[in-house]
Amino acid sequence: MSFNIAIDGPSGAGKSTIAKRLANELSFVYVDTGAMYRAMALYFLREKIDPKDEKAIAAACPKIDITIAYQEGVQCVILNGENVNDYIRDEEVGIMASNTSIYADVRAKLTALQQKLAQTSNVIMDGRDIGTCVLPNAQVKIYLTAKVSARAARRYDELVKKGVEADYDQIETDIKDRDYRDMHREIAPLKQADDAILVDSSDMDIEQVLSVIKNIYEKAVLKGKE
Ligand code: C5P
Repeated sequence: MSFNIAIDGPSGAGKSTIAKRLANELSFVYVDTGAMYRAMALYFLREKIDPKDEKAIAAACPKIDITIAYQEGVQCVILNGENVNDYIRDEEVGIMASNTSIYADVRAKLTALQQKLAQTSNVIMDGRDIGTCVLPNAQVKIYLTAKVSARAARRYDELVKKGVEADYDQIETDIKDRDYRDMHREIAPLKQADDAILVDSSDMDIEQVLSVIKNIYEKAVLKGKE
């Protein structure tokens, strides 16, 4: 049986950085589920589909093929045969992903793919509904969060470092809107699973968060051996 670690939480809490590092150290496969929602969103954007038009979204879903490949340990999302990693990180795609991830057809397609990946490998999967819906039997569940101000500051620094012009207030507003949508949608909303451990990264650096989560993992492994 494979060992599964689920990391859920809002945007900017550090999920992907932590999950990548941990996957590397434990030789697990890292599965970034947000990237899959972003790839579907990219398709909807390219096809100029209105995110409010549920019928058009549902009609488009069967035309979308999403698969995952790994190149030197880096997850590549393949959308209808094209590696779209370079196109899915824009703010526009993230907002479209948050607006279209509310639909049952979108979620059903990606949930099935994610469950298949977790059956065959030891995975660290990050997202919004991993501990609650995708992998309810994951051996380790973490809910990684941070204050809005800390998350907005991280995103701002990230953009400035990349040389991209950034407006802090706008980033904070976008984060709040995204949190609201992700937490209040009808299907698979973002929430802490009953058996998930809460980690607040507001006042921690990456090394500290990593050490806390490694500790949780090691305790779970020991418990499994009892
Ligand atoms: O994590 P990331 O910002 O890449 O995710 C983009 C969007 O995809 C999120 O705002 C969320 O609406 C959606 N998502 C989701 N369920 C997941 C992962 C992401 O609904 N498991």
